[in-house]
Amino acid sequence: MRALQLVSPGKIEVREVDVPEIASDEVLVKVAGAGLCHSDVHVLHAPEWPIPNMTLGHETSGHVEKLGDTVTGFAKGDAVLVYLIWACGVCRPCIEGRDNVCVNQGGRYAYPPCPGLGPNGGMAEYMKVKARYLEPLGDLDPVQAAPLADAGLTPMHAINGARHRLGPGSTAVVIAVGGLGHVGLQILAATTSARIIAVDSSEQKLELAKEHGADLVLKSDEMAVKRILEETGGYGADAVFDFVGVQPTIDLATHTIAPDGALRFVGLGGGKFTYEANGAAEPLPWGVDVRRSFGGTRTDQRQVISLAQQGKISVEVQTYPLVDGLKAFADLEAGRVPGRAVLVP
Ligand code: NAD
Ligand code: ZN
Ligand code: ZN
Repeated sequence: MRALQLVSPGKIEVREVDVPEIASDEVLVKVAGAGLCHSDVHVLHAPEWPIPNMTLGHETSGHVEKLGDTVTGFAKGDAVLVYLIWACGVCRPCIEGRDNVCVNQGGRYAYPPCPGLGPNGGMAEYMKVKARYLEPLGDLDPVQAAPLADAGLTPMHAINGARHRLGPGSTAVVIAVGGLGHVGLQILAATTSARIIAVDSSEQKLELAKEHGADLVLKSDEMAVKRILEETGGYGADAVFDFVGVQPTIDLATHTIAPDGALRFVGLGGGKFTYEANGAAEPLPWGVDVRRSFGGTRTDQRQVISLAQQGKISVEVQTYPLVDGLKAFADLEAGRVPGRAVLVP
């Protein structure tokens, strides 16, 4: 079968590999779509990556092709989504429903195994998955639904963790309207009563934001802080979601969050967040709570699938044949993908 692999740091290639053999608790999924996340771009450019010849793709949907001997609850042909976080399911965080911070397989700074970022992922014709990491998609179109595994899941988690600040009269700021951000906007619009301000460096992405629930769109220039403060009576936004994580967006977030606000860092752009206790120039107002948000829980995943099934959110998908995967990477890096690129084998 064909698979798009990270061959070595900086090098990706579509190549011929064997169809995976499944164990008794696994399912062979015939891939329908594999979303391309900006994290894949970070991984491609990482100076070191410990796993050579790894099939990328951590947003995968497809149809059940073959079931291991002990697998129940699925039948051949079922449409499924592959849950991102392959957590242990039995550690204390897992049984508390915080499987995205599973202790057994991640430790303090690592993360639990995620397909396409360790085990082989879904940018291939077939993928093997333990049955317990599959979520039924029902009638959802799997190609459209593939990005729900991360571009849906991750904003859902960040928003669920800030929900207590998103009541009537509140303001939420979404920094970046890319794959994650354009779904985040829709989740906010569908599930909260916050007024939503979208910020991006690209005019084209700001147009997309208007279609997906933003009440106000702002260019991420030097005026953005002033504008957001003006729009909130000088108080700041009750929740700020940074889906970029470069220095300018971290600074924008810290200078616009309201007292007691929920500051959610999701983007992994390499910027730095600093905190100065009692410093004269400290930008953080009192009471701000900061989260370095990672992926989402199984509950977040179910919720986001449910919102899509109800037609309350949808991913703007631009498809590419798997063989054109390298073009999709180039387009994403150049900012030419509105919404999410999905590779179709
Ligand atoms: P994307 O490429 O689809 O979108 C990025 C968006 O950021 C684009 O709309 C771009 O115009 C905008 N942008 C770039 N620089 C900007 C700036 N200075 N100011 C405002 N907007 C700017 O990316 P994505 O797939 O949505 O991923 C976003 C980030 O989130 C990446 O860093 C990715 O690695 C990270 N990520 C983190 C998690 C997590 O669990 N924490 C999960 C998935 C992705
Ligand atoms: Zn991702
Ligand atoms: Zn665990």
